[in-house]
Amino acid sequence: MDIFCKIVNGEIPSYTLYEDEIVKVFLDVNPDANGHSLVIPKKHYLNLYDIDNETLIHIMDVARKIGKLLEEKLHCSGLTLIQNNGSIQEVKHYHLHLKPQYENKQELLKVEEIYNILTK
Ligand code: 5GP
Repeated sequence: MDIFCKIVNGEIPSYTLYEDEIVKVFLDVNPDANGHSLVIPKKHYLNLYDIDNETLIHIMDVARKIGKLLEEKLHCSGLTLIQNNGSIQEVKHYHLHLKPQYENKQELLKVEEIYNILTK
């Protein structure tokens, strides 16, 4: 079972920002930027070629909502969406990276601190 399936079933903890029946959003354990988050389907799909359109649309809808949350709470100035497939994909469970961008260089805070800012 891949790491993200284990996060979905609660075997591995995560700093969860949002979840519903179809998706889960949590903070990346090794962030490139403060607020770096991952949107994953709860059902296992390998990658872009494996996932169905309906789930993809829902993932994008949720990405929009979380993007607004990151903007509002962390005051980022932009948001980059990345989704790796094939040999460059480290975790073999579809996931969309939400990477906030900042105008000024930010010190990377602990994931827990970012979680507290985003959820209070
Ligand atoms: P990929 O290269 O597959 O697109 O990126 C996988 C991402 O998952 C990386 O940014 C990595 O830091 C993150 N990641 C890997 N294992 C875990 C984990 O156990 N928990 C969380 N929250 N993120 C993880």
